[in-house]
Amino acid sequence: MDKVKDFNLLLTDKERIVIISHVNPDGDAIGSATGMKKFLESNGKVVDIVVPNKYPQFLGFLDPMSKIITYKDNPEAAAKVLSGADVVLCMDFNSLKRIDDLGALVERSNGAKVLIDHHLQPENSFDIMFSDPGASSTCEVAYFLIKRMVMADRSLASLDLDAGISFYTGLMTDTNNFANSVRPETFRMACELLELGIDKEDIQFKVYSGFREERMRMMGYMLYENMKVFPQSKAGFMLITKELKERFDFRDGDSEGFVNLALNVAGVEVSALFTEADGYIKVSLRSKGDFSVNKLSRAFFNGGGHERAAGGKIYIPVSEVEEYFLDSLEKYRHTICK
Ligand code: 5GP
Ligand code: MN
Repeated sequence: MDKVKDFNLLLTDKERIVIISHVNPDGDAIGSATGMKKFLESNGKVVDIVVPNKYPQFLGFLDPMSKIITYKDNPEAAAKVLSGADVVLCMDFNSLKRIDDLGALVERSNGAKVLIDHHLQPENSFDIMFSDPGASSTCEVAYFLIKRMVMADRSLASLDLDAGISFYTGLMTDTNNFANSVRPETFRMACELLELGIDKEDIQFKVYSGFREERMRMMGYMLYENMKVFPQSKAGFMLITKELKERFDFRDGDSEGFVNLALNVAGVEVSALFTEADGYIKVSLRSKGDFSVNKLSRAFFNGGGHERAAGGKIYIPVSEVEEYFLDSLEKYRHTICK
């Protein structure tokens, strides 16, 4: 409770808050940032959100006035709000490396730095940390934090419906629709948000049923032609090359969920999706059972994350990706998981 009191106290005489979230922002990043912004605004704060690059279009309903600042497109605006920030609230990431060039700006800011997150092994560069790796999502951490803040200071306005919609979105997406990383608190929160009046079907529809036809065709192609299953390695594999991106008119967010598909195959315990980008290959990893993709990613893919959902980057030609992946599994099983 002391940390909660410290945070309340910190906010008492601070007016300008900047919320930062991670590169390739997902439902939890945008949900937790917009939910927290709503709560803080209800309590008289001036709040800006800055993310390193664009969020996918399907999350636009959480930012209807397009107020979120994208550092890549508008570095001046990002620098301006950060230079005037009293508090920098870092949400849904555990290391300043996860926000690319924005990290240097955050480091330079004179504002107090507060972390709200659920990733393993958070970096120790924050004045106050609310880190709960057992939580399903940053939205879950933020939601229960707000409840404790309001309990500690009854003069605070509690969260409203819009904040509830934001927090439910991250809860739903980071758990892959309540399939992974759920604990009793996760459902308790979902239940309380339903009681608050959120329309869960509307959120579900906006997030999972707003894809373009090309994306659905691409998903069919990925399953039918692209996915490889390696029974001996207990692994599934997909690779999106630049050529494929062009063929299916690929946009950010189109591959959301692809990495989970191979995990539905019996016997597969780790699944990888590799996406060719400019100068690197983006890595997305998922697992079931005891396989730690966090460890795998830290060791071989320059990244990290959670035990069953992690990501990273590699810098090798696309033609070598499959072999590199199978090799990493072999090494992981023979060394790291021993
Ligand atoms: P996704 O596969 O959805 O891109 O990422 C899954 C999880 O892996 C994210 O929630 C994040 O925790 C982690 N992750 C993704 N990319 C990176 C990365 O480049 N570095 C690190 N450290 N973690 C990542
Ligand atoms: Mn998250």
